[in-house]
Amino acid sequence: MKYINIASIPGDGIGPEVMNEGYKVLKALEELHGGLSFERNEFDWNCKRYLEAGEMMPEDGLEILKDYDAILFGAVGAPEVPDHISVWELILPIRRAFQQYVNLRPIKLLKGIESPLRYKSVEDIDFTVIRENTEGEYSNSGGKLHENTPHETVIQNSVFTRYGTERIVKYAFEYAKQKGKNKLSVATKSNAMNYSMPFWDDIVREISKDYPSIPFHLYHIDALAAFFVLKPEEFEVVVASNLFGDILTDLGAAVAGGIGIAPSGNINPEGTYPSMFEPIHGSAPDIAGKGIANPVAQIWSISLMLDHFGYFELAEVVLNAIESVLMKGDNLTPDLGGNASTTELADQIVNKILEG
Ligand code: NAD
Ligand code: MN
Repeated sequence: MKYINIASIPGDGIGPEVMNEGYKVLKALEELHGGLSFERNEFDWNCKRYLEAGEMMPEDGLEILKDYDAILFGAVGAPEVPDHISVWELILPIRRAFQQYVNLRPIKLLKGIESPLRYKSVEDIDFTVIRENTEGEYSNSGGKLHENTPHETVIQNSVFTRYGTERIVKYAFEYAKQKGKNKLSVATKSNAMNYSMPFWDDIVREISKDYPSIPFHLYHIDALAAFFVLKPEEFEVVVASNLFGDILTDLGAAVAGGIGIAPSGNINPEGTYPSMFEPIHGSAPDIAGKGIANPVAQIWSISLMLDHFGYFELAEVVLNAIESVLMKGDNLTPDLGGNASTTELADQIVNKILEG
């Protein structure tokens, strides 16, 4: 028996609702495979805990997580707790402490989902964005000057290290090569950001020498965003800094049919630390407690986790199950135009998985 130890953090709002469906998927995968066991421990590290105990996670939280094979995350955030607390005291510490420097986000229009791009089909929208996940524009560095004067000034620094930039660019080229892709698209803005982006571009050029079979193309971020809408079929793998990648992936999720579907992996490629898999959506307080959240993003995140562990076939089984249910088109959640519950949609996927 192969055991995979999972730390599960359902979080707040719809997080626990979709996580519960994720658990059913894990159980179905165990049944299907026979030789695989997902051992999971659940942690109540969320905003409720923050309100009660004054902290999102215990002081030794990272120590506790570090020996797990993977972390499965739902979503955090509550109206009573400022968002910067849930982000800076839970998600970002995990991503940083565990060197999850790759944020991997498939932008893939699933069969059965209609893109808001009227003329684009599943063949057109199928690529992966690789976002730098530890530094860049989200660097907690900056300050305030001349507060309470008309000259009040704030500074938010971006920090790009050679080490951090090289490893994400290298990962992107390597990913393109492994997956047999023919092009790497790179987000830049070297015309306006005259320190960080020329540095980024130079590193792309240097590393590209090791990957002669993969042409790369530098796009200014503004143009790149427009091309995501106008010609998504141009893209296979896209690499971007933290902020640019953040924006591009939300746009990508929208183009591929919405936030209730889109998954992500926060990956430590070396495997020194656990990687973390999560839907890109938040805790959705507007629909929390109604049992109507779309569970697909959470379930697809499990597929990404299986991919990460090299269970490529099982990852396919999950994705195919999702697609076949979406294609059938009954019993979808309200965000997909139906009136089914979270559980009704998830159960169909679970049943498909059990069919193999
Ligand atoms: P959100 O993703 O929670 O919701 C945006 C909209 O999408 C809402 O209308 C919501 O109902 C809908 N939606 C989201 N997920 C859905 C799903 N699975 N099925 C159906 N509809 C879905 O973003 P927000 O409203 O900006 O943020 C709410 C809270 O979530 C905030 O506290 C924010 O900080 C937090 N947040 C957390 C994460 C995370 O945990 N990684 C990510 C984004 C936002
Ligand atoms: Mn985002």
